[in-house]
Amino acid sequence: MATVTDAGVELDGVSVDFGDVSALNDVSITVEHGEFFTLVGPSGCGKTTTLRAIAGFETPTEGTVAIDGEDVTGRPPEDRNVGVVFQNYALFPHMNVRENVAYGLRFRDAPGGVSRQARVEELLELVDMNGLGERDPTELSGGQQQRIALARALAPGPEVLLLDEPLSALDVRLRERLRVTLREIQQSLDITTVYVTHDQEEALAISDRVAVVADGKLEQVGTPEAIYRSPASRFVAEFVGDNNVFEATVDDSDPPRVSIDEQTVPLAAASTVAPGERVTLSVRPEDLSFDERDVAITATVEQVEFLGDAYRVHCAWGETPILVKTAHDEIPRGTTTLWFDVPDVHVVGRSVTE
Ligand code: ATP
Repeated sequence: MATVTDAGVELDGVSVDFGDVSALNDVSITVEHGEFFTLVGPSGCGKTTTLRAIAGFETPTEGTVAIDGEDVTGRPPEDRNVGVVFQNYALFPHMNVRENVAYGLRFRDAPGGVSRQARVEELLELVDMNGLGERDPTELSGGQQQRIALARALAPGPEVLLLDEPLSALDVRLRERLRVTLREIQQSLDITTVYVTHDQEEALAISDRVAVVADGKLEQVGTPEAIYRSPASRFVAEFVGDNNVFEATVDDSDPPRVSIDEQTVPLAAASTVAPGERVTLSVRPEDLSFDERDVAITATVEQVEFLGDAYRVHCAWGETPILVKTAHDEIPRGTTTLWFDVPDVHVVGRSVTE
């Protein structure tokens, strides 16, 4: 029997199968009270299934789901005290804005002993939509519709807010504005939140912690900074942000080193690699420089893109494509030397050679 803690949300060994398809495989997650926790990963990796298992729309084949310290694995969605917003959670077209928000209170009384009417007004104020209560959903922009969907989900005062790609149908600028609003509302209510997105930039921007999901399993869980700066696997290194990934062989010196362009480079994670092991390394584009650093490689500049605040320089290092991000305003052409510092080299994968 699993031990249930009093975390905001706890998944313990959750698997979900759909016939032969294993959508989730032994996933354990603990989301703290008031935490903004994001599941990010490519299409089909199991993000929505995880959220649906927390909401109660999916029953785990194995494992348990607990909310606020209570095992809710067998309970229907309406008995879980969660609010859910989906990507296209269409508002009811035959109800005006106020009626749509009030619909969120169909299973419960308004929290705090206030009337339903007062609660609806409170929520419209919270999402900055007061004065628009009489409008029909068709008279609202996409962003306003999602604010109302959020108000409807929050109306009963749920313990947990579950958001499945709530911004992805909106254009980029609106999405960036609304994610700030969403974070402000989440923090003002101090509500435990699980957010699903395929957009790694959004995940890093909005979250206290991020879980990178691949193929029904958790690849890495950590703060946005930890996920970005110390990717735990090749998948995370390549999925989160731009990155340069290449292979090298560990020598038998102590501490171990790898050979990169005929220089021997010590490894930060030296203690966990073995002599002769083939390792996958990563270096972020912004950690590469045209100015002298610890390690030099000879590369050819192939394309330069101007981004406004920086340049993205596409290079080739032998057969390996290398991306450099730099604010340097004199970009060399043709064959050049690229530099990086030893601490910026991360071991993101390993495979023992025969
Ligand atoms: P997306 O970003 O595309 O929404 P996702 O990461 O949310 O993807 P899920 O929707 O959780 O992924 O799907 C995980 C896997 O489970 C996929 O292979 C999907 O095809 C499968 N799957 C999901 N729901 C069902 C279902 N009801 N019946 C059968 N297979 C399903």
